[in-house]
Amino acid sequence: MHAGVSRPDEHHAVPTPIVATATYTFADSAEVAAHMTGTHPDRAREEYARYGNPTVRALEERIAALEAPSGGADALAFGSGMAALSTTILALVKQGSHVILFRDGYRRTRQLVAKTLAAFGVEHTIVEPGDLPAVRAAIRPTTRLIVGESPTNPYLHVTDLAALARLAKEVGRVKTLVDATFATPINSRPLSLGIDLVVHSATKYLAGHHDVLAGAVVGAPALVGLVRDLRGVLGGILDPHSAFLVARGIKTLALRVERQNATAMAVARVLAAHPRIEEVFYPGLPTHPTHGIAAEQMSGFGGVVSFRVRCDERGQGDATPLAVTSRVVDAFHLARIAPSLGGVDTLVEQPAIMSYYELSSEDRLAAGIRDDLVRLAVGVEDERDIVADVLRALEVP
Ligand code: PLP
Repeated sequence: MHAGVSRPDEHHAVPTPIVATATYTFADSAEVAAHMTGTHPDRAREEYARYGNPTVRALEERIAALEAPSGGADALAFGSGMAALSTTILALVKQGSHVILFRDGYRRTRQLVAKTLAAFGVEHTIVEPGDLPAVRAAIRPTTRLIVGESPTNPYLHVTDLAALARLAKEVGRVKTLVDATFATPINSRPLSLGIDLVVHSATKYLAGHHDVLAGAVVGAPALVGLVRDLRGVLGGILDPHSAFLVARGIKTLALRVERQNATAMAVARVLAAHPRIEEVFYPGLPTHPTHGIAAEQMSGFGGVVSFRVRCDERGQGDATPLAVTSRVVDAFHLARIAPSLGGVDTLVEQPAIMSYYELSSEDRLAAGIRDDLVRLAVGVEDERDIVADVLRALEVP
């Protein structure tokens, strides 16, 4: 609720007010000079809104305090999770650098590293998520960054982050960046395990209401300082109205995430016992390959459950796994079909026809995305309503 809220409020408003301005005025040239030379007594003084805004800064302080409650971290907010990821990664690599990337993860992050940055001479190796021997084997003299997610999207693979951080520190010069969007600071705190930088798509749990796009990076002030400078160049800033919505969302983050953890666990158990389900992916289930490390490292398993609908692989016409699974997704009533997660509304999607629509069936399989896969992101509705919706959807032929 109150993490990182330290600023005196000039207007006596309870929430941090929205300061809507593109620029800031100075009393005289002496004040300009003081600001530019860093001798101005007001350290929070801003010059131009691409470099800073009080509403956004208050949000950044909140997010830094959530990820590092005992202090020592700084945060930067962005206009989207991808703006946070692209600006951060660009700040840490240059032509000839090598990046190690987890295979299971947000597909645009993979595209950023494997295509966009590759075109500028940044090399990469893709490893299975959390496969530390593969990470170690992939390290080159030019390796500068390891980019992972924990839990991953969509298979919810949880990485032993303390071991990953130790490995990178052993090598030196290699920074670790973990996209912890699915975990939230309520369920895990990667910085406390030695990870250098945590990124969030704040669009998801932090904002929590499917009404705003935002992103953030958190880490040691010196490292975050490099990213701040580049944010001022690339311009992917968060506007103060959106910052206000994210800050408002954060006030109920713990309530929402605790509810979503409990509901997702209940849904995963129901799915695991259902005859129409081939496989369930949820780190809270003992059958999940990373349940052990998830139970050790996380205080909750998150609100996303992925599962495979049992289908006849040789089915033709309207009996193909793609068609059968689409019918199941279409039969959800409370859960809305949409490509996001982490908000108050339950959302469902079939990755094969949503996030991976442009790939052929073979290429999708190579990317690990089966036609019968469904991702359910639970909201904060009554658990009984969500479970009833799942059971109803699984009744379609
Ligand atoms: N990281 C993860 C794990 C995501 O799921 C997403 C979006 O779906 C992103 C990053 C990108 O965030 P945004 O949509 O806010 O740019």
